[in-house]
Amino acid sequence: MAHDSSTMERKLQVLRVDYAEKLAERIDNISAYLTAMSQARGDDAARIAALEQVRNATHKLAGSGATFGFPAISDIAKDMEAACKDVLHGTSDYGSAFFDRLYELCGRLREAANTPIGSVVEETQEIASASGRNLKADVRQKALLVLDADAAEGEQIKREMERFGFDVRVINHPEKLEEELAKGPIDVLVSGLKFCGNKTAAIKVLGELRKKGGIGAPLVVYTSQDGMDERLGAARIGANAYLVKPMDMADLVHALDDVTEFTLREPFRVLIIDDDESLVRHTELVLQGAGMQTLALTNPFDVLDALDDFSPELILLDLYMPKCSGSEIASVIRQRQEYAGIPIVFLSGETDKDKQLSAMELGGDDFLTKPIRPSHLISSVRIRLGRFRELRSYMARDSMTGLFNHTTTKQLMETEIARAQRSNHKMTLASLDIDHFKNVNDTYGHAVGDRVIKTLARLLRQRLRGVDIIGRMGGEEFAAILPDTGIDEAMALFDQIRVGFSEIVFHTEEASFSVTISCGLAQFPDYDSINALSDASDKALYTAKHLGRNLVVRAE
Ligand code: GH3
Ligand code: MG
Ligand code: MG
Repeated sequence: MAHDSSTMERKLQVLRVDYAEKLAERIDNISAYLTAMSQARGDDAARIAALEQVRNATHKLAGSGATFGFPAISDIAKDMEAACKDVLHGTSDYGSAFFDRLYELCGRLREAANTPIGSVVEETQEIASASGRNLKADVRQKALLVLDADAAEGEQIKREMERFGFDVRVINHPEKLEEELAKGPIDVLVSGLKFCGNKTAAIKVLGELRKKGGIGAPLVVYTSQDGMDERLGAARIGANAYLVKPMDMADLVHALDDVTEFTLREPFRVLIIDDDESLVRHTELVLQGAGMQTLALTNPFDVLDALDDFSPELILLDLYMPKCSGSEIASVIRQRQEYAGIPIVFLSGETDKDKQLSAMELGGDDFLTKPIRPSHLISSVRIRLGRFRELRSYMARDSMTGLFNHTTTKQLMETEIARAQRSNHKMTLASLDIDHFKNVNDTYGHAVGDRVIKTLARLLRQRLRGVDIIGRMGGEEFAAILPDTGIDEAMALFDQIRVGFSEIVFHTEEASFSVTISCGLAQFPDYDSINALSDASDKALYTAKHLGRNLVVRAE
């Protein structure tokens, strides 16, 4: 699904060549319509028909030219479209000035068709940097580069972050940064600010590198200084998060989660509906380059099947299509109750604000104008999708940890066991509980207790797979369902999680401390209903507590 950069370049190039080859023919057609129009002087209906053809053809060119390296084509075609509309709307007439102008613009279209500008290399870079990720990066393991003047502190961060599933490299001086970045892609740069006694030395180096385009990855800074100077400096170089020492590792993980979140989650699903085949392919490539999943329809009548099979989270919709309009499609989608909330974004060459607004009345959320830069397309789509997921998740999730709440977890358990029964695959249920959690609250306060809960939630999210279901069942109790996973495999995994959690050090103003967890496991088909599985894993958890805690125990 994700493309590396050379594949992306190749695919974009194929689209450009294809577009360029068809361009001459499309301009020939426009010129033929112009001739037909001038020959149809006595026949009003024929003249209007030809004029509409010119308008439609130039509308399409205006919306696509710049996307395939012909920005001048877009500009000229837009002028032609506007001239046609004026005549169609009666604000100007078919006088010779009108024909002269159209012929002149048509000639300029031909010239512009011979001079594509920009390269797919630049376009690929734009897609990569807009998506905030390296096209080659693995979706699961995030690569961190830590820049810290204090070697011991750097190593400590490395150890802790590795536990959360990050792949970590450490350097101790900003001068090594360029060399290190050249060695391989990173997903986040984590940097201290003070080097060689200068409390903002890193800001200068990082700022220069950013300007040169040397760091595309998000940046998290940490420092023991918390003044407006440092904060402003960090903001100016585009830091995504600012942490103050002594830094709780949990806070760092939270910040890293936030800045890398969109790639940790399952990919966004976008449905694209547009009758222009080459534009659809291009839009798909751009969004896929940003890690999204796409489904493209050139026939809007297929939309209902696509909704059910693909269950998109956002729909990009062309406005003018041959069989029906985009706004009609939007209202058909809105008729389906389960899709009443899905974001629908029009992507059209229509620049008239009134027309845009009336299209949105029937159910659109936003209007993007073609041609659109890849980076703008990616961020508009991502912002809408992010909000959509966020809102949707509030209903099913526990607000403190973002994990599924009790009710949802139980429902998902039922779905998963039904699936396991059908496929005859194993499945493991884990019950987890924090040890002596009351003591944490009593000793350090409720807020610190909350932090411990959130940290465990995040560790579970990092360590389990996307298909696993993790729920907060209450207070400091969690459950996880691991489809297609037998109890032996789950034993090894949860034991690693148990050890990993026990090694996390929490800091408060007065003290540092660690916390442990206990865990019980039971597998399907040893227990073949959700109730039986839950009882068995709870009993195993109880045994773990009884045996002294900080243990993973499997059901008898
Ligand atoms: P054990 O090792 O046997 O599990 O001991 P425990 O102290 O962890 O068990 P117990 O169930 O007696 O205590 C759980 C405590 O968790 C009691 C409750 O006040 C606290 N708690 C429940 N929900 C939250 C929460 O959201 N935040 C915080 N800070 N504490 C919570
Ligand atoms: Mg407990
Ligand atoms: Mg408890």
